[in-house]
Amino acid sequence: MRIILYLILLFLLYIVARALLFPKRVSKQGQTGSVLNGDEMVLDPVCQSYFPKNSALTTRQGGETIYFCSKECMEKFIKDSRQ
Ligand SMILES: [Zn+2]
Repeated sequence: MRIILYLILLFLLYIVARALLFPKRVSKQGQTGSVLNGDEMVLDPVCQSYFPKNSALTTRQGGETIYFCSKECMEKFIKDSRQ
């Protein structure tokens, strides 16, 4: 019966050794998942560039939310829409 305990111990050592040898592969999968969930890309209508929604400046126009990469772009858009 004791050999089963040794086999379980070896198996646990194998899991620990594998986790220590390949830590990057495991953490990389978690990172790409969180990046995809957190960073939605939006288009700036003024300079036509894509950037993360998290860092966007927003204004509402006709019930629609418009995203800008910077304050300059937002001011330019508001100025142009008034003319
Ligand atoms: Zn812009």
